[in-house]
Amino acid sequence: MLNSFKKNLTERNQVLIMIDKIKAHAKSHHINISPTILNIMKEIPRKHFGGTIDDSAHPIGYGQTISQPFMVALMTHLLLQYTPQLNQALEIGTGSGYQAAILARLFKKVTSIERIQALYHEARKRLHTFKNIQIIHADGKHIPHNHDSIDAIIVTCGIQGSLPSSWINWLNPQGIIVVPHSTHLEDSMRIRLYKNINGCIVEVPYNNQPIHCRFVPFVPGRN
Ligand code: SAH
Repeated sequence: MLNSFKKNLTERNQVLIMIDKIKAHAKSHHINISPTILNIMKEIPRKHFGGTIDDSAHPIGYGQTISQPFMVALMTHLLLQYTPQLNQALEIGTGSGYQAAILARLFKKVTSIERIQALYHEARKRLHTFKNIQIIHADGKHIPHNHDSIDAIIVTCGIQGSLPSSWINWLNPQGIIVVPHSTHLEDSMRIRLYKNINGCIVEVPYNNQPIHCRFVPFVPGRN
């Protein structure tokens, strides 16, 4: 009894240490992550998804990683700030399922797509109690046609060059895409925010300084 109490206390403290690291990282970019997001991250232990309390990405097998906590917080924060309505989110890159679990606390429905079959199965098992998450084994470039219209797309793998044109077709008017992206001309990737304005994808600046990042790459096809 006492041991499990101590264990819970240690886990709780570790989560709070992670939250402090996220806040400090965000502050260095002059960003205050919404308390709603930080509270959700306190309640969903990253370690259950194969992560640690470090503010860094962590291997989850198959050459993939669970995203860095600051990146999870930032991208979710942008979704909360800019998505017109929190009905339907689409995640490209389920990986461990950690980001999907956080999204499920904000959006009515979350669809998450993973190209690697083994990760898809593991995430489905891990997330089976989340009734508003649907995980699909597919290439995120071409999701099945019978999807709902989407308010926000979050991409958790890095895209170099043009964004797939299919994504804009799935988005509601004013819908947004948050994505680690570098254009053809750039060497380094940054977290970018795009909005669907009358069928055109328009970049929305959200911070004075660019926020550079490293993500595992978006890879076409599934396996
Ligand atoms: N959101 C994840 C991060 C996983 S890393 C988490 O919280 O753990 C990014 C994931 O994107 C990897 O699992 C990788 O297999 C997947 N991915 C890469 N290209 C993809 C594509 N074309 N379609 C779907 N998933 C893709």
